[in-house]
Amino acid sequence: MKNLSELHKFLFDGLPVRGMVVRLTDAWQDILKRRTANTETGAYPEPVTQLLGQMAAAAVLMQGNIKFNGALVLQVFGDGPVKLAVAEVQPDFSLRATASLQGDVPLAASLSQMVNQNNEGRCAITLDPLDRMPGQQPYQGVVPLFGDRKEKLEKLSEVLEHYMLQSEQLDTTLVLAANHEVAAGLLIQRLPLEGSGNLAGSYGSAERESALGQSEDYQRISILSKSLQAEELLSLDIDTVLHRLFWQEPLLRFEPLQGAQGPRFACSCSRERVGRMIRSLGAPEAESILAERGQIEVGCEFCGAQYEFDPVDAAALFTSPEAMPTPGAELH
Ligand SMILES: [Zn+2]
Repeated sequence: MKNLSELHKFLFDGLPVRGMVVRLTDAWQDILKRRTANTETGAYPEPVTQLLGQMAAAAVLMQGNIKFNGALVLQVFGDGPVKLAVAEVQPDFSLRATASLQGDVPLAASLSQMVNQNNEGRCAITLDPLDRMPGQQPYQGVVPLFGDRKEKLEKLSEVLEHYMLQSEQLDTTLVLAANHEVAAGLLIQRLPLEGSGNLAGSYGSAERESALGQSEDYQRISILSKSLQAEELLSLDIDTVLHRLFWQEPLLRFEPLQGAQGPRFACSCSRERVGRMIRSLGAPEAESILAERGQIEVGCEFCGAQYEFDPVDAAALFTSPEAMPTPGAELH
């Protein structure tokens, strides 16, 4: 049990503040093991391991924070040697993650050296409904990797705090950390006041005062949270982390999510999806690959699965009744 990834949710009793802690162990090690086993790429450089682990932890926290029946996809589009980093979490907390690199990542590379050298890096959060209709676009929010004065942000947690404030108008505090064994994160969020969305202007002075008081509670808890060191988050179990930070606060804990209910690695790739992707290339393109290499090979970047289509397989793709080209089909 000790080594299972887990997600814990909690409330501060009587205060408009809630929180979550995630600790990815087996799920994260599985992702790294598959990357290391990929002979084309090899293992991630150290700073990329840290970035991708933080993204995986953050994506689980964000998926746990919304009521949404679909995949949450957290992506960083980099303008440095890390071109793309992706963490994807399903509503049942199964997750996968990968990064594409081009060129060398220095051993001590900062976030901006990896993905924001020219201040053109972007972070995107996509909510892709499971029951999406054909042609329906998933919801996507995009934020830059710089702050209010265009200063480059050096922590993924700051980028995501900006996003939560902009997109959901919610004060959020995030602490994220990852190494080769653990990817972990703490999220603290101020709950919106009842009806504050459209009634903010009509608050009486008493209500404003109480809103201010509640904000003080959030500030105190946020400051406590920020005192958590990456090393503590990575090495301590969740009960110890929560006790150290909030032993004076009235915590209401929920049953932890782990095992089949908790975060775990799973990849949604399949031969059928790869077949659809090849069909979307069109027959001439597929034939030219076959002429050059004898077969079409597609590897899944997330799990390392290798899909091979020989000329007979490929011909079947283009002669079967459903051989209509699928615009926009991707390898998922
Ligand atoms: Zn896969």
